[in-house]
Amino acid sequence: MIHPPARTTRRGDLPVPGRRRPPDSAGAVLRAILDHGPIARSSVARATRLSAASVSGVTASLLERGLIREAREAAGPPGIGRPHVPLDIEAGRVAVLGVHIAVPRTTVALLDLRGQVLAQRQDLHGARDPQSVLTALAERVAALRRRHARRRILALGLATGGWVDAVSGTVVEHPPLGWRDVPAAARLAAATGLPVFADTNSRALLRAEQLFGASTEQARRSAVLLFVGNVVDVAFSTGGVIHQGPRSAAGAIAHLPVEGCCETCSCGRTGCLQAAVSERVLVRRAVAAGLIERPDIHGIVDAARAGSPGAAVLLQERARLVGRAAALLHDLFDPEVLVVAEGGANRLPECLATVRAQLSPDVAATVRASSFPDRVLATAGGAVALDQLYAAPL
Ligand SMILES: [Zn+2]
Repeated sequence: MIHPPARTTRRGDLPVPGRRRPPDSAGAVLRAILDHGPIARSSVARATRLSAASVSGVTASLLERGLIREAREAAGPPGIGRPHVPLDIEAGRVAVLGVHIAVPRTTVALLDLRGQVLAQRQDLHGARDPQSVLTALAERVAALRRRHARRRILALGLATGGWVDAVSGTVVEHPPLGWRDVPAAARLAAATGLPVFADTNSRALLRAEQLFGASTEQARRSAVLLFVGNVVDVAFSTGGVIHQGPRSAAGAIAHLPVEGCCETCSCGRTGCLQAAVSERVLVRRAVAAGLIERPDIHGIVDAARAGSPGAAVLLQERARLVGRAAALLHDLFDPEVLVVAEGGANRLPECLATVRAQLSPDVAATVRASSFPDRVLATAGGAVALDQLYAAPL
C-alpha cells in the first residue's frame, strides 16, 4: 500500500484565482448567437425568451466587449428605422488559451470563441514536480501569446486528470503525477495575469460537448463523459448542469475493479480500471511486442489503421474494458448521450463498435466518440475557459 504524503496546505487557505459565476442572461444571449448566428436581435429575444429591450442592452455590451460582431448582410429593407443587422460570434480578434497537463506531457493551445483550435504545441515534461511543470507552462503560454499578439486573450482554462477542485482551481490529488494540493490556477494566474479556471478532463470535455459538440441538444439535456487516457475520470450532467459534488470530487472512477488485470495501480492495488486501460500500460505492451517505434498511443492507433493485428488486439482489449465501464455508467445515469473520449474509439470505428457491444443493443447507439477526436487535449483546456465565458460573459 502506498502512503500518500501528509498535506501541507489546508484547502481553505488556497487562493481563489477566478470566480466561477452561474449562467446569466448575457450568457444566454451569447449562447443563442453561438448556436444560431448570424441571427437578428429579434430572433435572439425569441430564442432566449428575454425582452427586446434586454437583448438590445446585452448585445450592446457584448459588441462593446468585442465578443460578438455585426454581420455584414442586412436582413431588413434599408432606410426604415433601425436596420436588422444580424449578430455573430467574433471569431477573429479574441481568443482563449487552453492548457492541459497529462502524465507525460503538456499541451498549450489557442482557441477561438467557437472552440476551434487555432494553434497548439505539446511538450514532454522535464521534471514532473508542480513548480517545474507550471513554470514551463507559463513560458509556453507567453510564447504562444507573443506569436498571436493581435488577438486579445480573455481567459486561460486548465484541464487535467485526478481530483481537481474547480472552485479554488486546485489540483487536489493527481496520483500518477504525484501532485497533491497544488494551487495550479492561482500560480498560472499570477504568471500570466489572466483569469484562470481549472477542472478535470471529463468535466472540461463535457462542457465542450455541450457548447460545440456533434450532439449539443442531447448533451445539454443529460450526458455522461468517460475520459480514458493515462488517467480515467467521468463527468455527468442533467438539465445542462454538470455535477461537481460538494468537494468537486465527483467522477472518480479510476479504481473501479476490473477482472483479469494484474497491473499495479497508483493506489498500490491491482485490478483497477485506470491501471488496466492506461496509455502507459498499453504503450509498454506495444513496445515490448515490437508493434510501435514511438512510444505513444497515437502510434498504436496508426499501426492498427495500417493493418497491424497485434495493435488491433491491444486496442480491442482496451475497448472491451472501457465498454464495460460505459455499460455500468449507462445503467447508473441513463443519459441521452454517453461520450467516450478514448484514443481507439475516437479514431477507429471497430473500437467504438466494441465499446458499444458491451451495452445492451437498445441503448448502444447512445455511446458516441469524442466530437474532437484529433484535438481532445487542446479542446479540454480551452473549454474550461470558454464555458466560463458562455456562462457569464460580461
Ligand atoms: Zn487503484
